[in-house]
Amino acid sequence: MSLIRWLSLPLLAMVVPAGFAVWAFPQGLSLARTAGIVAGWLGCGLLLVSLLLMVREVEVARWLGGLERMYRWHHRTGVVAYLALLAHPLLLAADGFAESPALAWQALAPVDESWPVWSGWLALILLMAGLTITFMRRLPYRAWRWLHAGLGVAVLFGLLHLVLLGIDEPVLPILAAAMLILAWRAMRDELGLAARPYIVESVRRVAAGTIEISLRPLATSLTAMPGQFVLVAFLTGANYRGCGEFHPFSVSSIDRNGVLRIGVKALGDCTRRMQSIQPGVPARVQGAFGSFLAGPPPASQLWVAGGIGVTPFIALLRAGGITSPTLLLYLYKTEAEAAFLAELRALAAETPFLTLQTVETGELLPDLERLLPDAHCLGCRDCYLCGPPELTAALKPALRKRGIAARRIHFENFDFR
Ligand SMILES: Cc1cc2nc3c(=O)[nH]c(=O)nc-3n(C[C@H](O)[C@H](O)[C@H](O)COP(=O)(O)OP(=O)(O)OC[C@H]3O[C@@H](n4cnc5c(N)ncnc54)[C@H](O)[C@@H]3O)c2cc1C
Repeated sequence: MSLIRWLSLPLLAMVVPAGFAVWAFPQGLSLARTAGIVAGWLGCGLLLVSLLLMVREVEVARWLGGLERMYRWHHRTGVVAYLALLAHPLLLAADGFAESPALAWQALAPVDESWPVWSGWLALILLMAGLTITFMRRLPYRAWRWLHAGLGVAVLFGLLHLVLLGIDEPVLPILAAAMLILAWRAMRDELGLAARPYIVESVRRVAAGTIEISLRPLATSLTAMPGQFVLVAFLTGANYRGCGEFHPFSVSSIDRNGVLRIGVKALGDCTRRMQSIQPGVPARVQGAFGSFLAGPPPASQLWVAGGIGVTPFIALLRAGGITSPTLLLYLYKTEAEAAFLAELRALAAETPFLTLQTVETGELLPDLERLLPDAHCLGCRDCYLCGPPELTAALKPALRKRGIAARRIHFENFDFR
């Protein structure tokens, strides 16, 4: 990624809030009051950037370094915004404290106040609750997603706080921008206006609890590369009721006629239901996103796949995309659940550069220290990891310990939280 593109997200996260703070910088007030007001505007600008980064547009995501990177910055700016907004009433109370403790207390516990102040506190409480939920990984995904989306309400209360305080400029343009971003996200991504129509062409079982679905485009097909993922929503067909939500799946192959294939493992409600999908079911597909496996082919590579995380690797192998010695370490719970295993064995037998090492791990994380090649074997390899976040999180330090530089460890987590 070029330096300009790499810098674009940090710059966006600094320039927009700084612009707000400069515009609204108060004159002639005490230091604490000035800092309190500036903290409020910084928080406001950061929240706007955070909102902007949840919009899923293929070209924007590609330019900014991928959807995963955008979501990382979406979370970062959201957390820093919260800290700045928390500092806002505390600094205003500190200013009041200089005059009298009662005045400071009034700012912190605004019982006698009215909606202009209450709406600010409500926004802060909703923001705090929303952020707590954001970090609760154990919550079922659907509940997590709805509660996380509730943060949009916190933003609207925050803006209401400014409107009720009588600050029209630049609040009304910010309010309009926030509403526009939320409406854009709802229409393009949740209602699927950014997605293209496809139809299920065929379905085949590739392991216990995993199927591979071929999707034929009904209009122009989207362009995807091995290693990328698409967001797919299955609708209702003759004997199938789709759950209608968009879920991310790595493409397992891309045919010349635009037919895409995805491997789907039953990991939750929707993917379990998808196991009974049949040809003819309409689908909507958005993407493609991501740049995993997209770099120039390095001298030699180590690929580690955890379970269904093997999908991007099979896509590249099917496309005949390896030109350098590659070791694929494929970890799965049981052989019956290992998707594409027979095909991988056949590919390894006929692909000179490919070495396949398969490991049945059972339910527990395997002993990575024992499994990974020695430091001198890894030497100059680039490492590509794909699978559940717990696995990639355990692999990264184990590889670093073997002297692999962080920039040579590339990974795709099958989770966006
Ligand atoms: C970049 C990426 C690529 C993926 N590629 C594949 C693939 O090739 N094959 C495959 O079987 N699975 C893949 N997954 C995982 C797949 O998206 C989830 O298994 C699926 O969405 C689960 O949905 P559910 O309703 O059945 O289960 P739920 O019980 O709702 O979710 C199970 C877990 O899946 C994740 N998840 C659920 N919905 C979403 C969503 N809309 N966006 C992001 N994560 C979600 C959450 O971590 C959740 O804890 C990929 C995930 C990501 C992020």
